[in-house]
Amino acid sequence: MRRFAHIIGGATRAPAADAWLPVMDPARGEAWAEVAAGGDRDVDEAVEAAAAAFQAWAALRNSERSRHLQALSDALEARIGDFARAEARDGGKPFALARDAEIPRAVANLRFFAHAATQFASESHHGEAGLNYTLRQPLGVVGTISPWNLPLYLFTWKIAPALAAGNTVVAKPSEVTPATATMLGELAIEAGLPPGVLNIVHGDGPGAGEAIVRHPAVKAVSFTGSTAVGRRIAGIAGPLLKKVSLELGGKNPTLVFADSDWDVHLDTIVRSAFQNSGQICLCGSRILVERGIYAEFRDAFVARALALRPGDPMDDDANLGPLVSQAHFDKVVAAIARARDEGGKVLCGGHALDRPGWFVAPTVIEGLGPGCATNRDEIFGPVATLQPFDDDDHARPMANAGDYGLAASVWTRDLARAHRFGAGLRAGIVWINAWLLRDLRTPFGGMGQSGLGREGGLEAMRFFTEPRNVCIAT
Ligand code: NAP
Repeated sequence: MRRFAHIIGGATRAPAADAWLPVMDPARGEAWAEVAAGGDRDVDEAVEAAAAAFQAWAALRNSERSRHLQALSDALEARIGDFARAEARDGGKPFALARDAEIPRAVANLRFFAHAATQFASESHHGEAGLNYTLRQPLGVVGTISPWNLPLYLFTWKIAPALAAGNTVVAKPSEVTPATATMLGELAIEAGLPPGVLNIVHGDGPGAGEAIVRHPAVKAVSFTGSTAVGRRIAGIAGPLLKKVSLELGGKNPTLVFADSDWDVHLDTIVRSAFQNSGQICLCGSRILVERGIYAEFRDAFVARALALRPGDPMDDDANLGPLVSQAHFDKVVAAIARARDEGGKVLCGGHALDRPGWFVAPTVIEGLGPGCATNRDEIFGPVATLQPFDDDDHARPMANAGDYGLAASVWTRDLARAHRFGAGLRAGIVWINAWLLRDLRTPFGGMGQSGLGREGGLEAMRFFTEPRNVCIAT
C-alpha cells in the first residue's frame, strides 16, 4: 500500500511516532494508502529545516526564486495526468475535472507567482522633508494549512506566493487528501528546490495543524477550511499576535433574473451548484429566481440535475463523483433530512446512491425561506435550494441573508442592475453572468463568517511580507 510520508529538509521522512492514518478511496469506501500522522516533533523538525533554509532563500535574487517556481510549474505541467489520477483517487473528483481544470490551475498558480516574484513593486512617497520608500521583506518561516476539496490547487495557492516573497514554508495538506501535495513535494526535490524551503507535514488538524499554528518560529499562518476551524486558529494565533489569513466557508446565492439568458447559461448555473459534488466553497447552493420564470426555470434546472452522471471518478463519462469521506457523507445526508423536517420539498435526489462509496444523488429542494437552517448553513454537498423572488428589493436581502459572505453570481442582461447588485451584495466575489471565472491578479476572499483578509495576486504577496518604511531626510 502506498505511503505518503512527510517531506522535511528536502527528503521524505517517516513520522517521528511511526504512526500512520488510512487514506480512503471515496468511490469504494476502502483504504488505498496511508499517510503520516505527524505531531509536535515532526512540526518542530520541519520548522527547524525551514528556519535553516530561510536566509539563503530570502537572499536569492527575485529572478532566481522565480526560476525555481517556474521549474516546478513546468515539472508539474509535464505530469498533469498522474496528478489528476491521484487527485481522483483520494478526493473522488472526476478525473476529467482534475485533468482539465484543477491541476492546470495549480500549474497556473505556480507560474503566476513565479512572475509575481519579479514584478512585485512597493510604494514610495516623496514629501517636503523626506523621501519615504517601503521595503517588502519576507516574514521568515510561514505555515499553510489547506483543505481536501481542491487539494493541489489550494496547496499551491498558498505555497507559491509564500515562496515567491522569499519565505520558507511548513505546509499541512488535509490528511484526507495527501497524495498530490506529497507528489509535488517530491517533484520539488527533483526540480532542485533547495532543501528546507518547502516542507510538508502530514497529520490531522488538532495534531499537526495546531502544532504549526502554535509554533513560536512560525510567523504567519494562511488557512483555508471551515469557519469553525478558522475561528479556532484565530483563537490560538490572536494572543500570539501572529498574522493569519482565513479563507472559510460560504453559502453563496445565485440570482437569476427574468431578463437573463438563463436558458443559455443553464449549464453553468447547474455546474455552479454541483461541480465537484458541491464541494467547492464558491458553489452557488441558494438559487434565487425571479417569480415570473420560476416554474419554467425550476423544471429545466431539475431536468439538468437529473441528467448529471454520477459514477466512478476514473470513468470518462461520469461528471459527478462521491463525497470525500464517510463523515462528510453522513453530514450531507443529515442536512437533507433536516431540510425535509423544515418543510422542504425534495424535487429530485435526496438520497444516497445504491453503490459502494459515498455517493449522494444531485438534490434540489424548494419551499424553504431564507431564514431556515438549510438556507443558512453550509452543506458542501450536491444539494441546491430554489427560492422565488418578486423584484430587486425583495431579492437583495434574501441574497444577503445569513452569516457568510464569500461569493455570489447574478444573471441578468440589464447592465445597470448588474452594477447595482454587484455593489449591494455582501460577498467578497461577485460574478455577473459567470461563475468561477478567475483572474489570479484579483483579490480573493470573503466577508463575515467567510473569512478574514484576502489572498490572490498582490494581496497574497502583501500577506506574506512585512512592510518596512525607510525615511531619508532630503
Ligand atoms: P477543515 O475541517 O476546517 O480543515 C481544513 C484544514 O485544516 C485541513 O488541513 C485540516 O486537517 C486542518 N485542521 C482541522 N482542524 C484543525 C485545527 N484544530 N488546527 C489546525 N488545522 C486544522 O475544512 P475541510 O472540511 O477540510 O474543508 C471544507 C471547508 O473549507 C468548507 O467549509 C469550505 O467552504 C472551506 N473552503 C473555503 C475556501 C475559501 O477559499 N474560502 C476554499 C475551499 C474550501 P485534516 O483535514 O487533516 O484534519
